[in-house]
Amino acid sequence: MAKNNLQKILLGVATGDALGVSVEFKPRFYFKENPVTEMQEFGTHDQPKGTWSDDTSLTLCLAESIKEGLDLGELAQKFIAWRNDNYWTARGWVFDIGIGTRVAIERLEEGITPELAGGTAETENGNGSLMRILPLIIYIKDLEINERFEWTKKVSSLTHGHIRSIMACFYYLEFAKKIMDGIEKFQAYKELQTDILDYFESSKIDVQEIEKFKRLLEQDISLVNEDDIKSSGYVIDTLEASIWCLLTSSNYSEAVLKAVNLGSDTDTTGAVTGGLAVLVHGTNDIPKEWIEVLARRDELINF
Ligand SMILES: [Mg+2]
Repeated sequence: MAKNNLQKILLGVATGDALGVSVEFKPRFYFKENPVTEMQEFGTHDQPKGTWSDDTSLTLCLAESIKEGLDLGELAQKFIAWRNDNYWTARGWVFDIGIGTRVAIERLEEGITPELAGGTAETENGNGSLMRILPLIIYIKDLEINERFEWTKKVSSLTHGHIRSIMACFYYLEFAKKIMDGIEKFQAYKELQTDILDYFESSKIDVQEIEKFKRLLEQDISLVNEDDIKSSGYVIDTLEASIWCLLTSSNYSEAVLKAVNLGSDTDTTGAVTGGLAVLVHGTNDIPKEWIEVLARRDELINF
């Protein structure tokens, strides 16, 4: 099916996203009685089966930009075209958008320098840049770690410019890099505890910000109980939940269904988990019947 890592990422993100769309915002207890086990239609956004959301649309904008050489001004134009003209939407319309992303795109429309468009307040750490960042690793994987961090900062900052969002994106991309380098997922997780912590400390990042990543960097998050894994729209919750789902599952379906069934921000937790899970398990691990109904399936597969 998918022939390269970029195509794999798109399928993995879109499928995880689409599984969560019909049940976005539902609380966790709802899923104990009504677990999601397959693609569902209607629900929260009244969309047909296989419809993915803003997460995948903006991921596609970045993926396309990367194929064109990655120019931040061009990427900003794609985000604006998505918002205003339904560019890279699943079914021809935008049915969901995060607050931080909306405000930043308005600033981009006014002509602000792309890297300055995203919010920089501590309260502006939603998962809106994490959910769309994964294709960037294809572009930066062979660069030095400093350059990888700088690129992550720039691309996150189009919508989310606070250091915490940037660090979360960086952690996620570095995880993907290890997997793409052929490192087993638990080994990758362990190596990141040294690599990322060292990098953050040597970069003179505020200690209080590094503290926010403590459960990932200093503990073993795979041992945490589900009750202590949150799945809100806060960037740390989404990052922790996705790594937890990945480490506690043995295949793609198990990982993304676990993510969706955590509730709340189901589509984004599904998308962020799905991106890494497909790199670990491969596209053949995604159930055929899910791919079958996926919006713009052929364009994703042949991207
Ligand atoms: Mg979404």
